[in-house]
Amino acid sequence: MSESKLVDLVMLSPNNSGKRKYELTRITPHCTAVNISAKRIGEIFKPKTRNASCNYGIGNDCKVVLVCPEEYRSWCSSSYDNDNRAITIECASLNTHPYEFLPGVYDKLVALCVDICERYGKKKLVWISDKNTALKYKVAPDELLLTVHRWFAAKACPGEWMMTRMKKLADDVTQKLNPGEDTKVYHIIVKGDTLTKLAKKYGTTVDWIKTFNPFITDPKKLQIGWEVRVR
Ligand SMILES: [Zn+2]
Repeated sequence: MSESKLVDLVMLSPNNSGKRKYELTRITPHCTAVNISAKRIGEIFKPKTRNASCNYGIGNDCKVVLVCPEEYRSWCSSSYDNDNRAITIECASLNTHPYEFLPGVYDKLVALCVDICERYGKKKLVWISDKNTALKYKVAPDELLLTVHRWFAAKACPGEWMMTRMKKLADDVTQKLNPGEDTKVYHIIVKGDTLTKLAKKYGTTVDWIKTFNPFITDPKKLQIGWEVRVR
């Protein structure tokens, strides 16, 4: 049975379909929508009557619980297809919109994704915000694709807080997998550019562009020729 070296607790759930039917090509982060520890995540998925599970859980204590071995299909994403392809990770979050992850949980998620990618020989974690494009994307042998529960069911999961960080998650993990390479992307401002347009073009957010470029004090006054970091 495979498990990450980051695992603190093993609390195996009976809610799984055994070995996955398809090759591992995805990682699906979820939000628990309740502020709980790793142990509690394990306990919740223990009863058969729960009819659900995940591969890993990250609690509000930033501990990692193994719920289903990595090569097993967990019952997490409301999708036969996705659960057979993905390692699913429940992340402790607050219980209301935007389901902010508890402190340290995002960083542990990055570490767990890096660890998974390294052990499977992956060099890149990919995020494509458009569902149809993402699900049609041919995942390269050295890549894993991020997917989200809301694509497969009428759910908020993984919550708006995480949705606005999916691109960052992909970039943070990819950067850690390729420490020698600079994955930053810059754009030279031309007439008609707005931060909203740039965010859309480069698959990032206005907030991230502002964070990368503290010199932009008034987003309405972009100067032609400025070099702006967009990712
Ligand atoms: Zn979910």
